[in-house]
Amino acid sequence: MTGPGSRQRRADRPRLRLVGTARREVMLPSSLAPDRLGRLRRGVAGTGEPSSVIQPFTGEPLTELPTSTSDDLDAAVRRARAAQQSWAEVAPRERAAVGLRLHDLILDRADGLLDVIQAETGKARGHAFTEVLEVALLSRFLGLVAGPVLTPRSLPGAIPIFTRVRQRQAPVGVIGLISPWNYPFSLGVGDGLAALIAGNALLHKPDGQTALTALLGRELIIEAGLPAELWQIVNGSGAEVGPAVIDRSDQVIFTGSSATGRLVAERAADRMIGTSLELGGKNPMIIRGDADLGRAVPGAVAACFSSAGQLCESIERIYVQRSVADEFIRRFVAVTSRLRVGVGYGDDYDIGSLTSADQLAKVTAHVRDAVGRGANVLTGGAAVPEAGPYCYRPTVLTDLPATARCYREETFGPVVAITAVDSDEEAITLANDSEFGLNASIWTRDVAAGRRIARRLRSGKININDGFAAAYGSVHASIGGWGSSGAGHRHGRESLLAVTQTQTVAVQSILPTGEFGAFRGRLYRRGMTALLRVLKHLPGR
Ligand code: NAD
Repeated sequence: MTGPGSRQRRADRPRLRLVGTARREVMLPSSLAPDRLGRLRRGVAGTGEPSSVIQPFTGEPLTELPTSTSDDLDAAVRRARAAQQSWAEVAPRERAAVGLRLHDLILDRADGLLDVIQAETGKARGHAFTEVLEVALLSRFLGLVAGPVLTPRSLPGAIPIFTRVRQRQAPVGVIGLISPWNYPFSLGVGDGLAALIAGNALLHKPDGQTALTALLGRELIIEAGLPAELWQIVNGSGAEVGPAVIDRSDQVIFTGSSATGRLVAERAADRMIGTSLELGGKNPMIIRGDADLGRAVPGAVAACFSSAGQLCESIERIYVQRSVADEFIRRFVAVTSRLRVGVGYGDDYDIGSLTSADQLAKVTAHVRDAVGRGANVLTGGAAVPEAGPYCYRPTVLTDLPATARCYREETFGPVVAITAVDSDEEAITLANDSEFGLNASIWTRDVAAGRRIARRLRSGKININDGFAAAYGSVHASIGGWGSSGAGHRHGRESLLAVTQTQTVAVQSILPTGEFGAFRGRLYRRGMTALLRVLKHLPGR
């Protein structure tokens, strides 16, 4: 069991004692009223024992959702397969129109979406909004490009006129989608959308802690015109329901930790099915001596502490050139220490809560370990129980020794280590000294120099004069991790192609060719050689 929403996992691990934490009362918005939650709950393909969704704002249960038994999974995949047969026959442009309608619905219903995302993840409202923004942009992009990308194309045959060729992108069938809790709308609904528009059905296991967001996304997309049975949502422990999803799917889209990603890849390889893996990171930022610190400081703060650092793109290592290191650190610490940490459905706080007690325990352990090994805490370094049961103060470390856990391991919380460097060369070497390659950031006034550094960084995404949003938000561009950060295609035309199989149908019109055809032997070879010499003069050949 690995998701924070799973009961056993919480029971297995030592619970963090939150000394002095009062039971908090946070008024639930009407979008989370019991009848509304009851309606969402009915979207789970499950009849098993319930699992709890905990409100990070209070530490109290929000609701319970049924888990999915093996029989539930069998029935769900049967329904998905049946629906997929007819969905695959719908013209790509018609399927894509669901994306265009979804875009408008997301914008119309943004407030309700933000409530549910915040209730399950504990993040600040502004950070929840980035999910809404991304999925809206992506829906429109897929709505516009899916028709042209997926409509069968005529291509030249080996010999013009003799052969007519058509290539089409056939859907794979039922895609198993396994998504984490940190960006439940982006990584559940956003990733699922490309698969659906490409003509597939989804067998989706969101993390149990954030299944309501997935259920609400499913409701919206059904309203936008998707046949309901195409998207089956199952619930339960990662260790049990996750493998059961892989065993019943034709391909898997997985987002989560690198450790679980390896298990997913092994299981999928055993069945010879494809995977898209979007995994962890330990993302570096380089501040060059010529950086505009007026932009770099707030940019770096946003990149380190958005969603309380529970963002796969989050910056956890900053390498700053010594000439500006003191000034950068002074200003970075000043802004960080002023960030308002707290919980609620308004816009009162810059940083919300961590999502679970497990997350708080991990962040606390990483910082304690670093300090125990000699790191300095310039600001933060402690939980803030008076702000919320799982809140942690944004934390800046220096002098982090290489033996500390958070030197190499992903913390996935509001913790960053800053190191002064003497040159671009040293910054590049340190930035690349990681098994991960998900996101990197470079701040410089010399964009050409930034591009030169970018070419030498081992990372799937590089942001120059931005922390993460520029690359991630460009939905036309395909993104994915390098190294232990995975192998996948999110966004871009590639996200559609990745959930299809190419099928080529060639019709031979005039004469058979080849060894047993009419032109076998020397005459055939001479004739073909002459033909190829002529063909090269035709446009596009
Ligand atoms: P996780 O690996 O614990 O869980 C992810 C999902 O996998 C959950 O739904 C979980 O229930 C399920 N799961 C658990 N065990 C499984 C198993 N044995 N087989 C199949 N599924 C299983 O990750 P998490 O803690 O939920 O998420 C945080 C991690 O995700 C971080 O490492 C973060 O960097 C990464 N992440 C990556 C991206 C990206 O785009 N690269 C985006 C978001 C999060």
